[in-house]
Amino acid sequence: MASELSFHVHVAEPTLETGTPPVPHGYPAVASPITSTLITGESDAVLVDTPWTREHVRVIGDWIASFDKRLTAIYITHSHGDHWMGAPALVERFPGAKIYGTPKTVEGILDGKAQREGFWEPRFPGQVSPGEARPEIVPEEGLDLEGNVLKAVELGHTDTDDTSGLWVPSIRLFAAGDAVYNHCHQYLNEYGDGGFEAWHRALDIVEGLNPKYTVAGHKDKNQPDDAGAIERTRAYLNTFRRLDDEGGRSPEEFFDEMLRLFPGYANPKALWRSVVGILGSK
Ligand SMILES: [Zn+2]
Repeated sequence: MASELSFHVHVAEPTLETGTPPVPHGYPAVASPITSTLITGESDAVLVDTPWTREHVRVIGDWIASFDKRLTAIYITHSHGDHWMGAPALVERFPGAKIYGTPKTVEGILDGKAQREGFWEPRFPGQVSPGEARPEIVPEEGLDLEGNVLKAVELGHTDTDDTSGLWVPSIRLFAAGDAVYNHCHQYLNEYGDGGFEAWHRALDIVEGLNPKYTVAGHKDKNQPDDAGAIERTRAYLNTFRRLDDEGGRSPEEFFDEMLRLFPGYANPKALWRSVVGILGSK
């Protein structure tokens, strides 16, 4: 008999960037808050995504330990460093835990040195959690957690290429990675050239699973992990597209209009970078 599963969500605090251009209205230049999901059985547990600074890893390590379960696997939803760079240090703390991803995620992580050294280290000097990740390709039939199947679902392009999520049918939980955001400004720099439509197709796949709970890769920690986040992710995409199609706004005006339409969303810096990236490329 399969044991009954529960899930618990950890949101790592946003981390301040150094040496990057200022954000209007003095919003802090931070990396988005990052979500990890711990799925627990009677004695074992599986983690989906890790945060990425040394401090994050210390905090989430204590949090995982507080459940008193054996961590058997860490599933990584996609190869952006903020979702996996903490994995090697967590494996050191919880020996026996294996790192898994889809073939594309594994490829991206194994290639991660350039990402780490070219992008993360310069912006967050001395803070990035160290170590080489040795991920394995997730089995086709999924991971097993005490008789429950945890299935990788490929979602294609969302906020970047080749993303995925982890589906837990027994509790109708979908750990969505970056396919879903929850009250957090979305990274949209890659939404051109079909990226917008591709993201909607990914959300169709998520909706097709009919999850009861959806954990967003980036969220405001005070928000519930409800399936409504799927629709809110679509609304954000559609609004950004509408303003972009309308044209005629300066980057500052575009930014202010999005802030007005999505009040209180976490990390306006992500929005500013999207606006500058998209409008600047025209
Ligand atoms: Zn992300």
